[in-house]
Amino acid sequence: MTEPFDIVIIGSGMGGLVCADILSREGYSVCVLEKNKQIGGCLQTYVRDKVIFDSGVHYLGGLAEGQNLYQVFKYLGIIDKLKLQKMDEDSFDRILVENDDKEYVFAQGYENFIQKLLVDFPGEEKALRLYCDKIREVCSKFPLYNLRTGGDVNEKTTVLEIDTKAFIESITDNKKLQAVLVGNNMLYVLQADKTPFYVHAMILNSYIESSWKCIDGGSVIGKIMAKNIREHGGVIHRNTEVKKFIVEENRVAAVQLADGSQVKGKHFISNMHPVRTLDMLETDIIKQAYKNRIRNLENSIGGFVLNIVFKKDHYPYNRHNYYYHKEGHVWNMADHTEANWPLCYAVFFSASSKTDRYAESMTILAYMRYDEVRQWESTFNTVSAEDDRGPDYAAFKKHKAETLLDCVEERFPKLRESIKSYYTATPLSYRDYIGNEDGSMYGIVKDYHNPLKTFISPRTKLPNLYLTGQNLNLHGILGATMSGLVTCTAFLGNEDIIEKIRNA
Ligand SMILES: Cc1cc2nc3c(=O)[nH]c(=O)nc-3n(C[C@H](O)[C@H](O)[C@H](O)COP(=O)(O)OP(=O)(O)OC[C@H]3O[C@@H](n4cnc5c(N)ncnc54)[C@H](O)[C@@H]3O)c2cc1C
Repeated sequence: MTEPFDIVIIGSGMGGLVCADILSREGYSVCVLEKNKQIGGCLQTYVRDKVIFDSGVHYLGGLAEGQNLYQVFKYLGIIDKLKLQKMDEDSFDRILVENDDKEYVFAQGYENFIQKLLVDFPGEEKALRLYCDKIREVCSKFPLYNLRTGGDVNEKTTVLEIDTKAFIESITDNKKLQAVLVGNNMLYVLQADKTPFYVHAMILNSYIESSWKCIDGGSVIGKIMAKNIREHGGVIHRNTEVKKFIVEENRVAAVQLADGSQVKGKHFISNMHPVRTLDMLETDIIKQAYKNRIRNLENSIGGFVLNIVFKKDHYPYNRHNYYYHKEGHVWNMADHTEANWPLCYAVFFSASSKTDRYAESMTILAYMRYDEVRQWESTFNTVSAEDDRGPDYAAFKKHKAETLLDCVEERFPKLRESIKSYYTATPLSYRDYIGNEDGSMYGIVKDYHNPLKTFISPRTKLPNLYLTGQNLNLHGILGATMSGLVTCTAFLGNEDIIEKIRNA
């Protein structure tokens, strides 16, 4: 395959790979440039103490036959090759609230979801039915989410401005039920004054429909797509960082790599954060007002990740996740101080092909602002040494890990006894691996006050430069997949690809 490529894709995250896979199937010559050793962005896994950890795929929704992600994965030849484990039908997520011993369960299937919550909230059937109906109604307004073509672009405008907090408070006065219904909001970083209900609805719908874990990690999703891309004649270059777009006659002509060489293309798709993409462009075609708008959009908070390796056959494996928050903080879980951190955490067990009786590992996720690690921001590291950014940073991480463990042990007694070793990551780790500015977990924050301002178009003012990835429409594996489809339909100029996926 020779230059210029039909399409050069910068970044091999979920969105970039979906574009590369689909467009190479469509007969285009595709070249993917990835700065890391491993492809996949947040699909990457890493091994510590001989155990596999996911960086950003703890569970997936919508993978049962006929559901949205299933259908895309079927078209891409992924679904049959994934080793999936269905999570507990009767509790894929359990919500824990401080000073309350109960475990509130989220079950798969809408009727099951309602019935299981009715056990703890017997008088709230009306509220629960209103809640589920609203989720389904809102999701139905997004044609692509339902793999529908010919949708009216205005269809969804009627639901974009629904405020998550106001809606939940409108269906019930029961504060505990309100807290439970948004209890797993670390999935989308709920901000009471911003988060649109459609974000909550699309994510919850996907998991209520069906919830799954990838056995031995989610990186296989990227590997399958990489194989497909190569089989369709595409090329993927790892360890290849793009530094600059070369613009000639109001089109991108090439990208310049870290070693100074260039890769020429007819079209370019950037899977990098839009701000990073703009930083690498020198052109007057993109107006300052657009650049300012994108640069001023807020990114979601980052995460502190504690990955635990358990002693062999010591700690029971669970087919459900836990989400904990401190009493009274459901609407502001991300607004912690040094003194009250963590206000919330999530617990994920990794599914392993070796055993499903005992857990090999556990990931605990808590929020962490970039400011908390800013003093080490001049460091860069993508290797696994624990004191990689100096002894102060190692001490900081240790202190945070122990503080988090103290909090988690209140609900998971004697957890420490089962730990063989643990490893941590902060927003700096995500910043350096993913290449965004601040280690944000989910990219650009959506806002119900001005929803269109927080949607990013896949098209740019440069006619041959497109964007893709979690920052466009929605984050998550499902969200980034949908963004890949949005970019492909914009590039191809029609929705034929959606038909093909639906008929796969
Ligand atoms: C802690 C955490 C937990 C998560 N858990 C889940 C979960 O359980 N389920 C779920 O569905 N989603 C989860 N997510 C979200 C999900 O992983 C992401 O939304 C999704 O993978 C993002 O895909 P993307 O297409 O935006 O690409 P990204 O993953 O952002 O990848 C971008 C790629 O571009 C590359 N790149 C950047 N700059 C350059 C450059 N200059 N040159 C070359 N390459 C470059 C990067 O190296 C990277 O490979 C989680 C995310 C995080 C952070």
